[in-house]
Amino acid sequence: MKEQLVETIRLYNQKGWSPATSTNYSFRENNQIWVTRSGVDKAQVAENDFITVNQLAQSVGEFAEVIPSAETQIHCDIYQLFPDTQVILHSHGKYPVLSSSVQLDSIQFEGFEIQKGFASQKTHEGTIEIPIFDNHQEMRFFSEQLEMRKSELEHSCFIIRKHGTYAWGKNLFEAKRHLETLDYLCECWWEKNR
Ligand SMILES: [Zn+2]
Repeated sequence: MKEQLVETIRLYNQKGWSPATSTNYSFRENNQIWVTRSGVDKAQVAENDFITVNQLAQSVGEFAEVIPSAETQIHCDIYQLFPDTQVILHSHGKYPVLSSSVQLDSIQFEGFEIQKGFASQKTHEGTIEIPIFDNHQEMRFFSEQLEMRKSELEHSCFIIRKHGTYAWGKNLFEAKRHLETLDYLCECWWEKNR
């Protein structure tokens, strides 16, 4: 898993989705959460940049001395709320960032073929609504929002305003599909509405 995820992170970095050491990525294997440590240039990310954390986003085991990124708590909350989740991807792609800057609580997409990229969708017909959370430095805020708005997370992703996206899945393939679908939809939305 680490090898494939490293490949994905480097690819996303080339797309400009993780400038200035931003973003973080995780996977769960044998009930253990592995997350990228903070401050890593994603062009250089390697398999030994993953650390193990517990459900409270505290580093454990041989990595107990490493301080995890604050956003690690968001990963832990998603794993707890959606037990089928095995991979979580966080991107700072600019189209969700731009789109969320002019929207309120959510963003809607209607009739795009790529809406089928979400595991929940069988057809391009209909409207998809993706929640937008306000950005916050206190991770407790996201924990509360995720729990309160769980029913809006049926498409396995959300946007943090002027910040980025989180997307997840039952494997890397599905998590990637969700993240790339959301990014593409936001790009179309932004180009159409600006
Ligand atoms: Zn971020």
